[in-house]
Amino acid sequence: MTVLATAERTHPDGAMGPVETIWHIPADPAACDGECDAHRIICDDGLGVGVPAGIREVPRDLTGRPGERWCTSCLTAEASDGAR
Ligand SMILES: [Zn+2]
Ligand SMILES: [Zn+2]
Repeated sequence: MTVLATAERTHPDGAMGPVETIWHIPADPAACDGECDAHRIICDDGLGVGVPAGIREVPRDLTGRPGERWCTSCLTAEASDGAR
């Protein structure tokens, strides 16, 4: 099973540390034209935070993909929304 997601890259141990990819669920994947600078994500609470990366199909189970994880806020929001 895959989910549409957009990546946020962070450096949890500082700028020189390893990159961690956090997958967020886009609020409106249909609005993606492939050239956007940012995407609204469902965990951003309307604060206008966008994630500047393309939308991709990502497996729900990230086992075997070290350094990648799902945004727990997005998963919680998705589960309570029920629209998907
Ligand atoms: Zn998120
Ligand atoms: Zn886009």
